[in-house]
Amino acid sequence: MSTDVIVKLKDMAARSDRVWIQGRSSYADLLAETGRLANTLAAMGLVKGDRLLLQVEKCEAVLSLYLACLRLGVVFLPVNPGYTVAETQHFLTDADPALAVTDPDRAAAIAATGARVLALPEVLAQAASAAPEFADPAHGPDDLAAILYTSGTTGRSKGVMLGRENLASNAEALVDLWRFTETDVLLHALPVFHTHGLFVATNCALYSGASLIFQPGFAPEAVLAAFPQATVMMGVPTFYTRLLADPRLTRDACRGMRLFISGSAPLSPATHAEWQERTGHAILERYGMTETNMITSNPYAGARRAGTVGRPLPGVEVRVTGPDGAPVPVGEAGAIEVRGPNVFHGYWRLPEKTAEEFRDGWFVTGDLGAFDSQGYLSILGRAKDLVISGGLNVYPTEVESALDALPGVAASAVIGVPHPDFGEAVVACLIAAPGAALEESALRAALRDRLAAFKIPKRMLVLPEFPRNAMGKVQKAELRRQHAGLFSES
Ligand code: AMP
Repeated sequence: MSTDVIVKLKDMAARSDRVWIQGRSSYADLLAETGRLANTLAAMGLVKGDRLLLQVEKCEAVLSLYLACLRLGVVFLPVNPGYTVAETQHFLTDADPALAVTDPDRAAAIAATGARVLALPEVLAQAASAAPEFADPAHGPDDLAAILYTSGTTGRSKGVMLGRENLASNAEALVDLWRFTETDVLLHALPVFHTHGLFVATNCALYSGASLIFQPGFAPEAVLAAFPQATVMMGVPTFYTRLLADPRLTRDACRGMRLFISGSAPLSPATHAEWQERTGHAILERYGMTETNMITSNPYAGARRAGTVGRPLPGVEVRVTGPDGAPVPVGEAGAIEVRGPNVFHGYWRLPEKTAEEFRDGWFVTGDLGAFDSQGYLSILGRAKDLVISGGLNVYPTEVESALDALPGVAASAVIGVPHPDFGEAVVACLIAAPGAALEESALRAALRDRLAAFKIPKRMLVLPEFPRNAMGKVQKAELRRQHAGLFSES
């Protein structure tokens, strides 16, 4: 069994020299603040098992409230502040939180839905006069820690129930694998309503006694300015592509950094190569999802292979299965399934949906992938994004990697579009690099050496931008919807 997050927090707080957020607070301050907040929430009547919904712009109090909830045994439910009140209504109805805490400007609208709501400054003001000592009740490893809603690109978003051991086991594995120590300074520019910024980043710091440089969002200017004080950055691929567009990104600018980590969406091999060339650092790519925490990672020492997400984390089992549910041979593509202490407890109040997503105790991720002979996993796309053209499977990631390597292509997204002959046709959506003019026939000719004919896109659409979610993931369902009539019109 792993060490619980709160036990770890208390260990770190006992050491008076440990800084939590640079220029702001120590671990001892953090422990005291979580005690004050836990006392405040308890005084409001919140008890173990209740849900607390938090919908605020990124600020340090999100982390304190997350940890205060863990101390009390209240289930933490962070929501993207970009969601409208109508969208948030689904989480209020579904999760039935005992309390919602929001930014002041949306408190009245949330209250109008019938929910009990307080604005964050009110909660913090009450906590300011509460006692910092809090008598933590006993917690078990399987107690619920948080519910995170999936981004819900298809259908209603589902509440992912994560337990304390899910979080603790993953934090311990990652600290070890990525060699976090108390001398690390983690540059934190990710959102804190998502597993990446909330659990991966925060818990890696907390479990190693490292400190955070906590930025309100991703701004290349501020991130580059913080590099000299930082040692590690965790980012989504768009962080890296946007930083590469800045001429101030140089080898010298990254001198003090020891590690760049990427995840939440595919990092193109082209970006990996360009980053290495510019900075001398090989980005370490890892793979995970809300339901499973982190699953695989490229190694710290040893080859960080572009286009792969590395090997399973210690204690985590991964298999790739065929349509019959049996594991496929190395090198063959199939469904990625996961088992281990990282895997969630199920979808909130959806036992049937939960049962559908598990096969013999393995969680079926919905991603497609293949292992190579060295045990590195490659992600080939979401199962629902697989294109079947003329009866042949086309894995979008493979085509995207080939496109991204062509001069003038800044980004690509490959989708399947209904086609009268082929069932589905492969279509590439492209973004041109600044100043580049993309010529469809030239691109198609360039792909002929790299891809079998059936994988070469039937059409290439140059777009000004892609629809993306808050984590920078391209919304392929939206692209498919926008271009569904491409072949029926002609
Ligand atoms: P989320 O639950 O929002 O974190 O989304 C999880 C999904 O993001 C996974 O199921 C993958 O489809 C995708 N994902 C996460 N990390 C990677 C990665 N390194 N490469 C490709 N896809 C990734």
